Amino acid sequence: MPKKSSTTLADKVTQEALDAGVRLVRFLYTDNGGIIRAKASHINGLRNRITDGIGLTVAMQAMNMLDQLAPVEGMGPVGEIRLVPDPASFKLLPYAPNSAAMCTDMITLEGKPWGACPRSFLKRQIREAELMGISLRVVVEFEWSLAEKVIDAKTGTERFQPIDNSLCFSTTGLMISQYVIDELVSTLEKQGIQVEQFYAELGHGQQELSIRYADPLTAADNHIFVREAIRNVAYVHGLFASLAPKPFLDQAGNGGHIHFSLWDKAGKRNLMFDPKKPYGMSDLGMHFIGGILDHLPALLAITCACYNSYHRLQPHFWASAYTAWGPDNREGAVRVASRFKSNEEGTANAELKAADLSANPYLAFGALIAAGLDGVRRQLDPGEPTLIDPGNYTEAERARRGIKRYPTTLAEALDNLEHDLVLTDALGDLLTRSYLAVKRKEVETFSQHDDAFELQHHFWKF
Ligand code: GLU
Ligand code: MG
Repeated sequence: MPKKSSTTLADKVTQEALDAGVRLVRFLYTDNGGIIRAKASHINGLRNRITDGIGLTVAMQAMNMLDQLAPVEGMGPVGEIRLVPDPASFKLLPYAPNSAAMCTDMITLEGKPWGACPRSFLKRQIREAELMGISLRVVVEFEWSLAEKVIDAKTGTERFQPIDNSLCFSTTGLMISQYVIDELVSTLEKQGIQVEQFYAELGHGQQELSIRYADPLTAADNHIFVREAIRNVAYVHGLFASLAPKPFLDQAGNGGHIHFSLWDKAGKRNLMFDPKKPYGMSDLGMHFIGGILDHLPALLAITCACYNSYHRLQPHFWASAYTAWGPDNREGAVRVASRFKSNEEGTANAELKAADLSANPYLAFGALIAAGLDGVRRQLDPGEPTLIDPGNYTEAERARRGIKRYPTTLAEALDNLEHDLVLTDALGDLLTRSYLAVKRKEVETFSQHDDAFELQHHFWKF
């Protein structure tokens, strides 16, 4: 039965690509370094490629964001997997002439999900939630910095400069980026991704766009397409969009906050919503948040995934730095969002602020689900709500409330991840080993260099 319907969909997207005059279709995957990579199929071979996939060396899941191969047993020069596209994710790429793309799963030659496949990991966590009667709605908010490349007058070398120094939410900021943003929104409309809001954010050249929530798999695929669109539409306009967490050290950082809500299996009832409880948050929702906070020191290694991420997570920068939660508290790791009158149940949700766009969204959503479900199973209590900036509590008050400062380096977060049995069990052996090795190789390289090297190599990667 599923085979028949996927065959039909494969035929349909092949025809759609032909009708649109597509020449190359990118088979996208996101690796352990958070980099979106692709191999493209020519249209002539597309129909068979949708079934067979494109071959990929197993070593690619040992490659970091600097194209360095980390030592991972079983991920050397010998061995292949297949990138098998999900035709449901097919989209034309308006910014790239005659091109389209699909998101892929990493499948073994025996036709099974590969142990190091991030998208298959997310599917497993979605199933785990379903077994507990929970379906999720998820979405990421996108913050990024628009810049141009200029020649530095003093040094004569190239550097990135923000396109404006406009004020937060200012209409001058809106005007300066108007042409590129209009094309971005038009691109997303053509791709069937519903834009919710846009504004000029606080930092110089900083932008923020939000899109509609979806089920976690669609939301992760959308995350990839939006990142691609942000970067590539800017490039077509001669600009550079940085989705790095802290591309300019003296400016506000770029978050990739994850909003989530928990629904019943049919997706009809919001299980997080209970009007009789404080902030309308049900016990189930509180336990889920309790799980996230409990695992956060390790979870961060996945949601704030790069070396540069830890420059962003400073107290008093609205990025969050402590394992606190609170209603509409933008310095808390988890913000319980206020609801909107016309649809109280539909708008009840929480937001993980400790997340950025260097994260592989399949890993980030999957790990968030695993952490939250653990909280539900153990009925964890997230503690008292934090009603002020947790950075303004005394050390003693934070200790009394069980609020911890986040790890301040990626290295520390990775050590926590290695020892987190819930997350490593969910990831499985191969994904855990390869992820830790890839990220540790990044730490090793960046810690041998200065800030300038770090910024240069993070600016235009994600
Ligand atoms: N730019 C802030 C961050 O780094 C978020 C600001 C906000 O939208 O609250 O996460
Ligand atoms: Mg913002």
